[in-house]
Amino acid sequence: MGQGAYRPRSAKVSKFPTALDKNTGEIIPLKDLRDKFFAAANSASPKAALRTLRETFHLACPHCQSADLVFSFGSQNPDGTINAIAGSNIAGNPAHLKTKAGETHGKNCIGVVIPQESHAIDAQKGFRIHLNLKNIPERHPRTNQLITRDSGGKIVILDPDLKDRAPWECSKPEKILPLMKSGQIERLNKSVVIYGGRKIPWGEFFIPSINAEIENPNLTRFALSFFADSATGKAFGHPLMIDFSFARASYSNHQDEKGLARYYSFPKSAEIYIPALGCNIKIQPQLRVENQHLLDQMDRLHRTHGEILLVAQRPFIYKRDDKTNTYILAMTLTDPDMMVVSNPNNIMATANKKRASPPSAQSQPTQPHP
Ligand SMILES: [Zn+2]
Repeated sequence: MGQGAYRPRSAKVSKFPTALDKNTGEIIPLKDLRDKFFAAANSASPKAALRTLRETFHLACPHCQSADLVFSFGSQNPDGTINAIAGSNIAGNPAHLKTKAGETHGKNCIGVVIPQESHAIDAQKGFRIHLNLKNIPERHPRTNQLITRDSGGKIVILDPDLKDRAPWECSKPEKILPLMKSGQIERLNKSVVIYGGRKIPWGEFFIPSINAEIENPNLTRFALSFFADSATGKAFGHPLMIDFSFARASYSNHQDEKGLARYYSFPKSAEIYIPALGCNIKIQPQLRVENQHLLDQMDRLHRTHGEILLVAQRPFIYKRDDKTNTYILAMTLTDPDMMVVSNPNNIMATANKKRASPPSAQSQPTQPHP
C-alpha cells in the first residue's frame, strides 16, 4: 500500500481537451494549462502563484461556452506519472479540466452528451465538427451511419475514423469562430464536418470569398464532390459555409404571391474542369433571401459589415442557360441564425498571430494555410 507512481495503461480521457478563456476569447489546450499550473506549483511561492494563475483565466466549456471549468491536477506529478489513489494500487486521474461545481452546460452540449470514457483523442487528427446536433438520428441503424444516440440521449460514434477526433459543437455558425481563430490551422484543415449521415472535409465545407476569375480550391473541391454525387442521383450538395462579400454583388427583387424575395449574385469563379461533365464550367454563387424579415436583417448586416459568413443547408448547382458554361450555385437563406458577421481576413490574421506566439506554438502545428 502507499503512494507509488503509476503510469496508467490507458489514462482516463478528459472530455475537455481544450477550454475557452472568456477573458480573451481564446481556446487554450489542456497541455498549455498543465504546463502553466505545474510551473506555478513548482515555483518559490506556489500558493500565491496558483492563485494568480486561477485569477488570470476565466475558463469555460468550449462547446456550449456557458458552464465554467476549473483545472484539476488530479493525481498527476510534474513528470507526467500518476499517483495511485491513496490506500490502493489503482491509478488516479491525470490532470484535467472539469466542470466547476454548481455550473450547468447548455442543452445538448457535446461536453456532456459524449461519454467521458468513450474515446482517446488523437491530437494529430482534425476535429469532428458537429453541425446542428438536433439532427442526429435516433436509433435507426442504416448503412454508413456515422453517429447515433443511445436510449439515454448520449452520442454514440459508429464511424471508426470519427472516434479519436476531438469534437466541436456547431449548432450556429458563430460557434465555429473561436475554433477558426484558435491558431490550429493545420488541424482545422484536416477536420471534418458531420451533418446527418454526411462527413464533409473542411476544405469542401468552408468556401472563402469568391473573386471573379480567380481559382478557389475550396470551391473546386465542392464542385467536384457535388457533380460526383449528382452522378449517383444525389442532386443536393452537403451544407456549405460560404463567405459572402457584398462589395461586388448585384441583386434583383422578385415579388410573387408569397411576398418579396431577393436574389444576390456574386462574382463568377475561374474555370473548373468537371470530369463528370467532360468540360470546363464557371460557377456563380447566388443567394436567395426568401422574405422581407430576413431581407431586413441581411441588409442591415451587410450594409454595416460588407461580409457575412453564412451556412447554407442544401446548396444546389444548375446550369444557367444552354449558351454559356456558367452554372449557378444556388443557396437560400431561411433562418437568421445561419448568418454570422465576420471577416475571414481578420479571422486568418488572429489565427496566424496565435500560431506564431508561444506557448501554444509548441503544441500546435505550424504548417502554412494553403
Ligand atoms: Zn458545455
